[in-house]
Amino acid sequence: MKIAILTSGGDSAGMNAVVRAVVKAAILKGCEAWIVREGYEGLVRGNIDATPNAALPAAAEYTEFPPAASDIIKNLRFGDGQLLKDGTGDYASGRTLKGRYIVRVGWDDVRGWFTEGGTLIGTARSKEFRTREGRLSAAHNLIKEGIDALAVCGGDGSLTGADVFRAEWPSLVDDLRTQGKITPEQATKHAHLKIVGMVGSIDNDMSMTDLTIGAPTALHRICEAIDNINSTAASHSRAFVLEVMGRHCGWLALLAGVAGGADFLFIPEKPPSSGPWEDEMCETIHKHREVGKRKTLVIVAEGAHDIDLKPIRAEYVKDILSERLGLDTRVTTLGHTQRGGRPCAMDRILPTLQGMKAVDALLEATPETPSYMIGIQENQVTKVPLMEAVAMTKAVTAAIEARDFEKAMKLRDPEFRESLEGFIATSALSASKKLQVEKRMRIAIMHMGAPAGGMNAATRAAVRYCLGQGHTALAIHNGFRGLLDDDLGELSWLGVDSWMARGGSELGTNRTLPSKDLGAVAAKFQQHSFNALMMIGGFEAFTSLQILEEGRKHYPAFHIPMVHLPATISNNVPITEFSLGSDTSLNALVEACDAIKQSASASRNRVFVVETQGGKCGYIATMGALAVGAVLVYTPEEGMSLDTLKRDVRFLKARYKLDEKGKAEGRLVIRNEVASSVYTTDVITKMFKEEGGSLFDSRSASLGHTLQGGIPSPMDRARAVRLSLKCMAYLERYHEQLMAQPLKSRQAPPESAAVITIQSSSVTWVPVQEMVQQADMVNRRGKTPWWAEMKDLVEALVARPQLGQLH
Ligand code: ATP
Repeated sequence: MKIAILTSGGDSAGMNAVVRAVVKAAILKGCEAWIVREGYEGLVRGNIDATPNAALPAAAEYTEFPPAASDIIKNLRFGDGQLLKDGTGDYASGRTLKGRYIVRVGWDDVRGWFTEGGTLIGTARSKEFRTREGRLSAAHNLIKEGIDALAVCGGDGSLTGADVFRAEWPSLVDDLRTQGKITPEQATKHAHLKIVGMVGSIDNDMSMTDLTIGAPTALHRICEAIDNINSTAASHSRAFVLEVMGRHCGWLALLAGVAGGADFLFIPEKPPSSGPWEDEMCETIHKHREVGKRKTLVIVAEGAHDIDLKPIRAEYVKDILSERLGLDTRVTTLGHTQRGGRPCAMDRILPTLQGMKAVDALLEATPETPSYMIGIQENQVTKVPLMEAVAMTKAVTAAIEARDFEKAMKLRDPEFRESLEGFIATSALSASKKLQVEKRMRIAIMHMGAPAGGMNAATRAAVRYCLGQGHTALAIHNGFRGLLDDDLGELSWLGVDSWMARGGSELGTNRTLPSKDLGAVAAKFQQHSFNALMMIGGFEAFTSLQILEEGRKHYPAFHIPMVHLPATISNNVPITEFSLGSDTSLNALVEACDAIKQSASASRNRVFVVETQGGKCGYIATMGALAVGAVLVYTPEEGMSLDTLKRDVRFLKARYKLDEKGKAEGRLVIRNEVASSVYTTDVITKMFKEEGGSLFDSRSASLGHTLQGGIPSPMDRARAVRLSLKCMAYLERYHEQLMAQPLKSRQAPPESAAVITIQSSSVTWVPVQEMVQQADMVNRRGKTPWWAEMKDLVEALVARPQLGQLH
C-alpha cells in the first residue's frame, strides 16, 4: 500500500510526531510512505514537476550490508526530507516547492521531528478542496502517484473534508476515467480510497476523544503564562483577565482555570447562569479578596458569551473589575503563543501511538468499513467512526447556538463535566450549602514517600472541598512520624491557595510505615477523632493502606474509610496506569533529553547514555525513551545481559554506518538506574565508546532528582483535582454507611480501604487487598505493567530489530 499523510487546518504541537509515526509505521509494515505538503492545497496542486523523487541511494552504498537487508534499509534515506526542514517554498507566495507537493519519504526524513512544534510539512486552509473541481484534481494527483490510502491530521473541518472526499471518491474516479485522465486499469485499481483521521487541534474540541493532538502543549503554554502572571499579580495585588483560545470549546480555559487556580472563568458551554453575571463575578471575587487573597485571575475563553449568546470580552471583564471592585486590572491575551513551541511529553507519546494505530486502521480498512478517527480515552488509543465524532462535535456547537447549554455539557465527555465540577468546588469560597452536621467528617490528609508533582494540588482540592462541605481537613505533616509527634493541623482556604503550582510536598513526606508502631498510630487516630484518611503517595502509601486495613482486626480506630491516591514519579503502584507526578517527571525528562540530544548532535556522532530514576520500575525510562525518540532503553523488568549488549552494539554500528557522511546524529540511550548492578551506566558508556571506534563516541548523564520536576505539569494538576474530589466522595459514601451502624460494633468493609486507579478508559476503585494480589512486593511494582510493550515500540521506531541483525 502507498500511504500518504497530510496535516490540515490550524497547526498544533504534536503534528510532526504524527507524521513521523505514520511514516515509520508505514515503512515497518512494508508500505510506501508519502507526505502531502500544505494540507489539501498540496493535494489539489499535486506534482507540477514530474521529476521523480530523489533516487534510492545506490546499492553500492550498502555493500557493507547483506543485499536487500530489509525494506527499512532501502527506505532509510529516501525522498528529499531535508528540503522540508529547510522550509523550501511556500505555495501562498507562488513559489513552487520545486513543483512537488506529494513526496515519497523515507525513514530518516522524519528524524528529529519530535522536538519541533507546528507542522514541518506545512498546513493550509484550502478553498479549492471545498469544491468538487478541487477534489477531482486531488483524486487525480493521488492516483497519478498510485496512492490509495490517506491519513489526515487536522480539526473537525479537515476530517469532514476527508470524509467528503472518500464518499465522493468513486464518482471522482468515474469522471477521471470518462475524461481520459486515468486509464481503466487505474480506475479499477483505485476504486476505493482509504481514509483515517487524527485530531490535531489545540482547542480539544472534538467529541469521542479525550484529547486532541496539541491541546496538552497549549495547556502547558497557558499554565506557564499563568504561573508567571501570578507572581506579578501577587506582588502588586492586581487582577488579571486572561483570554485563551477556544471559539467553540472551553476546554483550554477550563483546564487552565483548574490547573492555574483561577477565581472565575467563562466558557462557551456553560455561561454564567442566574442574574446579571457581573454581580455574580464581583461577589465571588470580593469574597476571595475579603479573606486576604492578593491576586485575582479570571479566564475568558475566546468564544465565551452570556446566556443570550452576547460575547463576553476580556476588556469588558477588566472594566467591571476595575470600576466595581476598584482592582488594578490588566488584560493578557495569549494569542498564538499558545499554539507554538516544543511539544510536551504527552504530545509526543499520544501522536506516536495514534499514528501507529492509524496505519493499522488503513491496512484493515475495506470498502465496507467506515472511515475511522483515532482518538484516546483515558489511557486507551481508540478507533471510532469519523463521521459520528464529527457529527457529535457539530451537535455541541449547534446546542450552544440554540442556547441549550445543558445539552452542550452533556455532549462533552465526562472528564469535561468533572473538571468543571472540580473548578467550582476548588475555586469557590461558599459557605452556603454545607452538609448536615452528622455527615461531616474529620478527614486526615497525609503525603507519603518521595515528593511528586500534583501532591499539593490534590491536597488543595481536598482541603477546599472539605471546607465547602463543612468537613474538617487535618493536614498531617511528615507522614506517620509526624502523626506520632502530633504534628498536624487544620488548613485554611487561603493557606492552600498557591499550592496548585507548587512542586515538592507542602506537608512534608517520608517513607516511615505505620507498622513502626501500629498501636500508637491507632491511638493517634482515636485521639484526633479521624473519621477518614487520604494518603497521597507512592508504594509506601499503598503498603501503609494495606497495613492499616489489616490492623482493623485489632484496632477499632482503623474502622474508618481510607483511601490512597497514587502519586509517584516512578509510577510503580500496581494496577493504576498513571500516578500523579509521572507526567511532570516525563516532561522533566523530555526537557533534559532534548538539551542533551542537542549537545550530542552538535558533536555529531555521540551516543549519550542517560540514567533515570524509577526504582525497580522501568516506566519513566520506557515512556521517556518513547517521548524523546531514544534508540535503546534498559529497564529493571527486562534486565541487561551480555547478549543484549552485543546486539545493541551491532545495532549502533549498523545505524552509524548508514548515516550520511557528516550528518551522523547524536543518539540517546536511556537506562534506569537499577537496570543491572553489573552493566552500570559507566560500564556501558565505556563499552559503547570502545566499540564505537571511529563510528561513534559515547558519554553519560544522570538526571537524578531533576526528574521530580520543579513545577507540576498542568495534566498532573488537573488530574490531581479530579481524583482528589473522587476520593472525597468515596470517603463520604463509606462514612455514611458506617454511621448507620451502631458505634460499638462498627465494622468497615474491606472495600472501604481502597486505591483510586486509572485503568484503560476508566477511573476505578480497587480494594487494597485486591491490589496486593497484583503487586510484586519485593520489587515494589505491579506484576504486569501496561507499558511493557512500549519498549518494543521504542525499538521498532529505530529499526533496532532489523539493524541489530546486521554485522
Ligand atoms: P481548526 O480546528 O484548526 O480550525 P479545521 O480542520 O477544523 O482545523 P478548517 O479550516 O475548518 O480547519 O478545515 C481545514 C480544511 O479542510 C479547509 O480549508 C478545507 O480545505 C477542508 N474542508 C473543511 N470542511 C470541508 C468540507 N465540508 N468539504 C471539503 N473540504 C473541507
